[in-house]
Amino acid sequence: MDTAVKRNFVISPLPAASLAVVGTADAFPVRRIYCVGRNYVAHVREMGGNEERDPPIFFQKPTDAIVADGGNVPYPTKTDDFHHEMEMVIALKSGGTNIPEAEALSHIYGYGVALDMTRRDIQGSGRPWEIAKSFDHSCPCGPITPVEKCGHISSGNIKLTVNGETRQQSDIELLIWKVPEIIANLSTYFELKAGDIILTGTPHGVGPVVRGDELVGTIAGLEPLTVRIT
Ligand code: MN
Repeated sequence: MDTAVKRNFVISPLPAASLAVVGTADAFPVRRIYCVGRNYVAHVREMGGNEERDPPIFFQKPTDAIVADGGNVPYPTKTDDFHHEMEMVIALKSGGTNIPEAEALSHIYGYGVALDMTRRDIQGSGRPWEIAKSFDHSCPCGPITPVEKCGHISSGNIKLTVNGETRQQSDIELLIWKVPEIIANLSTYFELKAGDIILTGTPHGVGPVVRGDELVGTIAGLEPLTVRIT
């Protein structure tokens, strides 16, 4: 057995993905990115679904899909219908499996703002969502505000503007699965761990962007997120 041998990497390992922590010089290391789909009634309906027949679902994005606040999102290949989805982010400081709802909030480090950028024309193909949702630069994500500063967020305005025009506006209280339910439910499928972040789903008003657009996402009590499509 050579398990004790210290092996050198044959190519340079990627740096760990991370997000800035608001008000500090610190960073939050990201282990996995989980996303919730179909988690606002008005969005389920605008996508042609039925919120009672189509319950929320989970998928993942790769951590190197993160684009930091102020960054650029290159218009992706293989789509003519590149959409914004404005979402609140939960960042976990601990995890587990089968986490009870009553304990879920105790695992949260903080909250943030993200975009679940989507190749909408591919998502509708009926095939797995990987290339529709989990491509390069598909996860712009702003800095994380620690719970000590923002409290736990169960309501408040969530809004996305494109070039200053409001495209999406709703309230966090309209989530179908609330934050504790998301954590409890997700932890029945995956062992959640410190460093996991969860995008909680988009409200209605999703739509296309083009090169040159400036997207600004805001959630009451959190740092905004600004990115540009290039
Ligand atoms: Mn989404």
